[in-house]
This record gives sequence, structure tokens and C-alpha cells, in this order.
Amino acid sequence: MSDRWIADRMHRIDASGIRKVFDLAANMTAPINLSIGQPHFDTPNEIKESLFEAVRAGRNAYSQTQGIAPLRERLQQQVDEQLGHDDRQVFVSSGTSGGLMLALSTLVNPDDEVIVFDPYFVMYGHLTAMSGGKVVLIDTYPDFSIDLDRVRDAITDRTKVILFNSPANPTGAVATEEEMRGLAELAAEKDVALISDEIYRSFCYDGPFVSPAKWNDQTIVIDGFSKSHSLTGWRIGFVHGPAHVMQQMIKLQQFTFVCAPHPVQWAGLSALDYDISSRVGEYREKRDFMVRELSDDFEVAGAGGAFYLFIKAPWGTGTEFVKAAIENNLLIIPGNVFSSQDTHFRLSYAAENDTLERGVEILNRLARNTQ
Ligand code: PMP
Repeated sequence: MSDRWIADRMHRIDASGIRKVFDLAANMTAPINLSIGQPHFDTPNEIKESLFEAVRAGRNAYSQTQGIAPLRERLQQQVDEQLGHDDRQVFVSSGTSGGLMLALSTLVNPDDEVIVFDPYFVMYGHLTAMSGGKVVLIDTYPDFSIDLDRVRDAITDRTKVILFNSPANPTGAVATEEEMRGLAELAAEKDVALISDEIYRSFCYDGPFVSPAKWNDQTIVIDGFSKSHSLTGWRIGFVHGPAHVMQQMIKLQQFTFVCAPHPVQWAGLSALDYDISSRVGEYREKRDFMVRELSDDFEVAGAGGAFYLFIKAPWGTGTEFVKAAIENNLLIIPGNVFSSQDTHFRLSYAAENDTLERGVEILNRLARNTQ
């Protein structure tokens, strides 16, 4: 084997950020782990039972590429009730990641520009690189709000996509109606595709979720069950948007993922009847606890949703502060994994309360030990 085998596009995917975290954490045993990007509770039993039932009933072959009809129909009904667009079509994808990959591959030509807000979910850069596009970052520090003038200034005749995520990973920021509406209308005015990653939609603690699709009927919405129902390993999501774009994405799904795992789609159907409000309530309480306990010593912005806090290091760079945290057995992630700057760290409060208490105690102690 030689390097000649590896395609150029692979060199445009830089995985060094996450490797840095593994290196930092390599010698930890039983860390206080506030780094996890998924719910800390297991998949609800009712949903597990539906999966077992589907497997036993022999629903193990390929499904239609766009997903089983009963699930698609339920999702379509939900989306039509919420948005009421004439031309909006739903299909079932292999996780939200699968939906994102299909969307970017369908829309982005080599050298097209994709607007991404910094800090960002790491996959956005990698998937844009895979499609040959270029990421154009828009800085949202210090409060992670969206400055529409900056977005307007960043749009060129090569801009193809604005990739937007609220509630956001890693900041927990939830965009206001005004920001959402402004962005939606700007994308429509400039004829730029707006992709809205709504995977944390259910985790909004201070008000109801609103999608930018409300103001822009061409918005491509990527959604899924991973976080809302704790199904990260089952690989199921769904996408909705204008029918002609969905048709292209389904065509690509047919020759890549083929379909979302068939029995999991039946479990997904039962997940639609599972009430997650008490779990969301638990995360709201955890958010309140963390913000209250950390506010004296740290600057906490965002924090309206998802289960992350993105916090400015009280001294040193993000990496230096995280190194000190790891030396104290607390695992958090340096902000430069999600950003062009190294000033912050991400913590996830998807953890048991006693883990959060121990984490807070270490963080506050470290903040006061200025170095
Ligand atoms: N989008 C965001 C913002 C995420 O945080 C994640 C998971 N960490 C995903 C997409 C991918 O989720 P899935 O498991 O559905 O592929």
C-alpha cells in the first residue's frame, strides 16, 4: 500500500482535534466524564420492545429507500401540521449524520461555499470537505447569537448553503425567533439553500422551538431520534424539504446507505408515541443547576437548550484549562475542537447529578487557582 491510494479529499478531512482529546485523556482511569455527546439514559424499554418485535416478525430485509410507509406518513403528518407547506416531503435517513451527508453531497459543487457558524458541530467541516466545498466561518462569540449583517457580508456568488444548528452543539445556544426569521429570509432573498440541523429540537428549556422553515419553505430540515429518544447507536433520522431536493437525496441514499436499518424504523414509529417530556424536564433542572453553580467563576453564554455548556476558560487557553481539568480527573473538551479559536471548553451535563456536583466542585476550584 502506498499514499498514492488515498484520495486527495481524505487529506481535506482533519481529525486532529478529536485526536488531541484522546491524547489528553489517554491516562485517565474512571474520569468524571462531562464530555459525552449523547443522553445519559438508556433507550426506553417500550422502544426496545418494538425493535425486538420487528426483528422477530421478520422485518429484517431492505425497506424502501425512503423509509417504511407508516413512519413516513406519521412524520409527514407532523411536518404538515407544523409547517403547512404544499411541497414539503419527508424521508427516513440513516441518522441525522446520514441526512447531513446526503444534503451536502446533493447541493455542494467543488469550490462552492458553505456558511457555518463558529463554534460549530465538527462534522460540518468534514462533510463539506468531502463534497469539495469550502467552509466560510462566521464568528458568533461571545454570546453565540447570529449577526445577520455578518451573514449578508459573507454571502458571495459561490455561496451555496447556510448550515445552521439550533439548539446548538457545542454552545447550547437557541436562536431567537428574530434571528431565525432573519436568516430564513436572507437565505430566500439570496437564493442560498438553508440546511437546519434540528436534532436537539426537543431540548429547548426557555420557550418553544421554532424552525427557520416557518419563514422559508425551501429550508432543508435534518432531524432524528438519536438524542430525543436515546437511540444514537440505532442510526435513524429523517429529513424534510422541497420535494425536488428530497428526490435527489433519496436517489443518493439508494446507492449509499440503501435504507435506514429496517427494524429500527418500526421502533422509530413507536418512539413517536413515547413521551419524552420528563426527560427533557430533567435536563432543564441539570442546566439550571450547572449555570447556577458555575456563574460566579465562569462566563456562561448560550445554555438555552441541548445539553452542553460552552464556557470561557477563566485563565489560559481552552486547551491549557482542559489539561488542568484532566489532571484533576475531570474530562471536558477544549473549544478548539469546535472552533477556530482556543478560548473555551465544552461540557455536557448529560450525566448523573452526583457526577455534575463533582465536576462543578473541580471546575470552581480550578477557576480560583489562577495560573
Ligand atoms: N448534528 C448535531 C448538531 C449533533 O450534535 C449530532 C450528534 N452529536 C448529529 C448531528 C449526529 O446525530 P446522529 O446520531 O443522528 O447521526
